[in-house]
Order: sequence, then structure tokens, then C-alpha cells
Amino acid sequence: FELERLGVHDSVDAVFPPSELATHLADLPVAVDVIGDDEIADCDAVVTIEYREALLELDWIHSIQAGVDRFPFDDLEAANVILTNSTGIHDRTVGETVAGYLLAFSRRLHDHVANQQERRWERPEWDEAFTLPGKTACVVGTGTLGRGVAETLGALGVRVIGVRRSGDPVPGFEEIYANDDLLEAVADAEFVIATVPLTDETHHLFDAEAFDAMREDAYFVNVARGPVVDEPALIDALESDSIEGAALDVFEAEPLPEDSPLWSMDEVIVTPHCAAYTRDYFRDVGEIVRDNVGRLEADDEFHNRVV
Ligand code: NDP
Repeated sequence: FELERLGVHDSVDAVFPPSELATHLADLPVAVDVIGDDEIADCDAVVTIEYREALLELDWIHSIQAGVDRFPFDDLEAANVILTNSTGIHDRTVGETVAGYLLAFSRRLHDHVANQQERRWERPEWDEAFTLPGKTACVVGTGTLGRGVAETLGALGVRVIGVRRSGDPVPGFEEIYANDDLLEAVADAEFVIATVPLTDETHHLFDAEAFDAMREDAYFVNVARGPVVDEPALIDALESDSIEGAALDVFEAEPLPEDSPLWSMDEVIVTPHCAAYTRDYFRDVGEIVRDNVGRLEADDEFHNRVV
């Protein structure tokens, strides 16, 4: 297709100012403009975070997220629209966020922050703090996120094992299990970390049975998507002390409803779907878009094509 005008949809403002990306891409041989809903029809392609039906009229949509679960694949295919995503850029950001969660739990930093709010000088119990080397993390999903988590935790001395569909080995993981062996894979891990895409197959992958299979001192981390977890089953597991705690960046309903019990649990860290945030986000997305504009000119296959 002919690319003359590329829109940066103003919904990307949830992650970075749209104008930063438009300026970053200003040297492309096409017009790049920040656009709202009423200008979608004037573009050939749009970079966006949100889906709109008007996008079905375009040739190409680029999602600034890795997860594309909010896009209707069948409709896009029927309308002959190409969809590309931003997988490949979130290894370090999400890896460091997950390392931060684990260090908060092991060094009790979340308690200290909570105490500071109350001007309370209170040390942990003698047996609460621990260190990470020798602990096992089971990372479920071994793509960009999983590998970034493995690399960051590996540097902290954590033993990292993984779960993927094929069960084939992945660099940075000491052992890999196939999906069918999930319950066995999580059984010996002090940390279980979800980094899978949300698909029909991963919906409620972490259910009551999975939490039952985990150690009682296990911490569960979700940086994937809310619905890969049966949230009521997770809340039950936390309330009944069948697992120790959780760090959650994503939820079945976002924003997390004010009345969710997760907000007030001592061993739960809640973050507002921002594990991948960085001031460089627009540059990282920009490089994927730039690469694909070049590929379009050269008549090459798009990178990160999903539909
Ligand atoms: P990738 O495509 O790089 O990796 C996905 C991995 O998951 C693949 O290695 C694949 O391995 C594995 N996988 C796919 N389906 C299944 C399945 N049914 N069961 C087990 N493993 C599966 O994606 P990213 O790592 O870039 O992103 C993963 C997801 O993380 C995104 O889809 C998004 O939802 C979420 N995300 C969340 C962010 C946040 O802000 N919290 C930021 C970025 C991403 P194999 O083919 O071997 O099974």
C-alpha cells in the first residue's frame, strides 16, 4: 500500500505524549501527525494504544503495546488491515520492575514505605527478611518479557526456570517445562511470574488448582494481563494463606475497583499497569515504526506483524 500520512492517535497519551513520537518520526518520508478520532479517516496508518472501528478503513495499525488482546483479529483480517505490535522492547523495563517487587518482598521495603506514611519506626520480625540467591523463580511465558525477567533475576542470583508451550530450552533458563506441566513447574518455586500473552489458551491459566500447587511461602507476580488469573481464586489463596503474597501490575478490571480486597493486603503490591513505563518508551516504539516504514518502501515483510 501507499503510505502518505501516518497518524499518532492521541490515546497513546496514556503512556507518553503523542507529540514526542510525532517529533521523533518527523524525518520519515511521510507526513506524521498527532490525530484524534475524527482524523483517523485522513490517514493510511495509525500508531495507537486503543482500538476504534474507524481503524478498519486503514491499511496498517501499529499498537504501542506488546499485548494486542484488545484488537478484533477477525475483523482486521476481513478488512485487510495489517496489525503490528511492540513486542521486543519491554525486556529491561519489566525485568527491573519484577526485580523491584522481589527485592521489596525480600528486603521488606514495602513495609518500610507503609510505615513511613504513618511516621512509624518499626523493624521487621527477625525472620521476615531474606535474600534472593538460591531462590527459584518460575517464569511462565518465555518471550521478550520472560527473557528480560530471567536475565535481571539471574543477575541477582535467582535460579530461573520457565514454562512455554513447546517445552524447548531457552537461554537464561535453567530448566523449561511444557504448559501441560505447569503445576509441576510452579511447585518448588518461591516466586511464580506470569509473562504470557492473553489468549483463549491462557485465560485463567492461574486458577485455584495452580495456586494450590504453589508453595505456602510463594509470591505470585502478574505483569502479563489480568484475565490470565482467576482473580477471586487468587484472593482466596491470599486470604487463606495458601500463598504468601503477590505483586500485581494488571487486573481483571482496570483501574482496580476501590473495593477490591487486594488494595489493603499487607503482602500484596499493587501497581497501575505501568511495569513497562520508561521515559524512552516513545523512542523504543518509534524504532519499530521506522523499521517497518523502511520495510514497506523496500517491499519487505513487516516486523512484529500479528494480523
Ligand atoms: P512475546 O510474544 O515475546 O512472548 C510471548 C511468549 O509467551 C512466547 O515466548 C510464547 O512462547 C509464550 N506463550 C504464548 N502462548 C502461550 C501459552 N498458551 N502458554 C504458555 N506460553 C505461551 O510477548 P512479550 O513477552 O513481549 O509480551 C507478553 C505479554 O506480556 C503481552 O502479550 C502483554 O499482554 C504483556 N505485557 C504486559 C506489560 C505490562 O505493562 N504489564 C508490558 C508488555 C507486555 P511459546 O511460543 O514457546 O509458547
